[in-house]
Amino acid sequence: MPRAILAGTALELPSAVPALTSSGAPLAAGRPRVLPHILCYHKIERRLELGVTRLSPRRFARQLERFAADGWTSLTLDEVAASARGERAVGPKELAITFDDAYRGLRDYAFPAVEALGFTGTCFVITEFAGRLNAWDVAYGGRRFAHLAWRDIRRWEGRGIEFASHTATHPRLTWLNDAAVRHEMVRSRSAMVAALGRAPRAISYPFGAFGDREAAIARNEGYDVGFALAGKWNGDPMAVTRLPVYPWSLPMPGIGRLAAVERAGALGANRCAIGTSLWKRWREGRTPRHERQPGVTGLAEPVAGD
Ligand SMILES: [Zn+2]
Repeated sequence: MPRAILAGTALELPSAVPALTSSGAPLAAGRPRVLPHILCYHKIERRLELGVTRLSPRRFARQLERFAADGWTSLTLDEVAASARGERAVGPKELAITFDDAYRGLRDYAFPAVEALGFTGTCFVITEFAGRLNAWDVAYGGRRFAHLAWRDIRRWEGRGIEFASHTATHPRLTWLNDAAVRHEMVRSRSAMVAALGRAPRAISYPFGAFGDREAAIARNEGYDVGFALAGKWNGDPMAVTRLPVYPWSLPMPGIGRLAAVERAGALGANRCAIGTSLWKRWREGRTPRHERQPGVTGLAEPVAGD
């Protein structure tokens, strides 16, 4: 594979056996599809926690500053989607900055840094937790974190930040039946239409967990680009892979001589995230069903000040 695009993930399409997308349609022949360099951040927070998805605001800003100083530009969601469909050539220093979970710390630290450097970013919202604490997640070290409220989202939309779906309640979709997967995607989409006046085109699968079924349902429900986490891209726009950024990531995540090691570590860390899902399932097996609904448990109550 030519390494002119060092940062991206290229896929050479075999000419004799056309690959299929999740919808069963053959991938367009022609030039190899190449993804831009896509990063996935989670919490950008000053507050410490025991989990591995938090980055300090200073470290986050330093990473973006390094990309900016090295001449990188960032892509909009439309540009990423067009690249994933093979309709757009990817330049050697094109970056896509994404955020999963839509934590409130993004409003205070990450989005201003993105804006100050003239970058753009895409943030994936767990729609039923907007303005609430993260009761859907394991509280590492007993700490809960607030999610962005809809008014924060409206304020940042159009200021270099785009918003899309991270489902309604952040379940591991691969553990749900077809109807439940569809329900998560439809509810999330309707919530965004109600709050923002437009439907999201993109979805990020919680925990990066998805397969052909989830991708096909997402496409059926109106999403035309799907985001996963670490791993090798198969060329399907509904299965776009990203590099999750962890505290041990390189100063310019995914770039440099150690990038292959970093990617392998990210894949391992993402696989370990199944522990979070197992813990949640075990807990919920011991919790009466009615207490699991957002807005019913105390932990999911709206956050003061939102
Ligand atoms: Zn998530």
